Amino acid sequence: MKVISTVAEFKEERRRITGTVGFVPTMGYLHEGHVFLARRAKAENDVSVVSIFVNPTQFGPKEDFARYPRDPERDLSLLEKENTDLVFMPDAGKMYPQGFATWVDVEGVTGRLEGSTRPGHFRGVATVVAKLFNVVEPNKAYFGEKDAQQVVVIKRMVADLNMNLDVVVVPTHREPDGLAMSSRNVYLNTEERQAALVLWKSLNLARQLWSGQERSAQLVKQQLAALIGKEPLARIDYISIADPETLEELAEIRRNALVSLAVYVGKTRLIDNITLSS
Ligand code: AMP
Repeated sequence: MKVISTVAEFKEERRRITGTVGFVPTMGYLHEGHVFLARRAKAENDVSVVSIFVNPTQFGPKEDFARYPRDPERDLSLLEKENTDLVFMPDAGKMYPQGFATWVDVEGVTGRLEGSTRPGHFRGVATVVAKLFNVVEPNKAYFGEKDAQQVVVIKRMVADLNMNLDVVVVPTHREPDGLAMSSRNVYLNTEERQAALVLWKSLNLARQLWSGQERSAQLVKQQLAALIGKEPLARIDYISIADPETLEELAEIRRNALVSLAVYVGKTRLIDNITLSS
């Protein structure tokens, strides 16, 4: 496994690769969910690349950029076990040098859900992912379903800018009790960790109501809000039932629906989602 920290060095390494490249962009503090993405990238390509970069431009001024968990040594030992070929770990100065002035703004789908409560978030995500794609030049790039809107935004960008790669979506990896794995779970204390289960319970309730033929998005949202409301440590940021492609809110749940949640548990903001499909 080779660890590279500059764009120039990575591009030189890339020029020497003749086979296919599978790429997993991450912000580090890796968990099993990330490991599954890295494993897929390794299994489905000649060369696997993982990037570790806590991207400052996707965090709002009041968000957790400074305290976002970091443990590069542990990350590298996990990736070594997965036989990852290349790790790209640039520092922020190298990604955003003096004079940096170009941004990728995906319109429409970024105005909703995460985009509406985290203004500028997807501009940062799309810009850094476009930059990373230009450096790594992957044939396939792997993203988690956990960040469903991110997948929609990246797919839009790849199509609109004629980027030459396939976006592969990997199912959400969960703890045995159902909590979606996330680097931010480390922020939770014991009571909050227990309370955080309310996200998974709510998504299951949505599925149960849907299976029982409930088709009104408003009624399903009300029931989810009532369930989350019973958990004193939880505070709803949003509950959405939307079209999985346009992310437009649905009044009636007909064919496919993306049920997504953002909930504060204590001070930690967690997101999760499931897709209901007939
Ligand atoms: P992050 O480091 O949080 O930016 O995540 C890097 C990639 O891993 C993104 O494509 C995420 O969607 C994906 N990911 C994060 N958590 C999970 C999970 N629990 N299951 C599957 N993929 C995940």
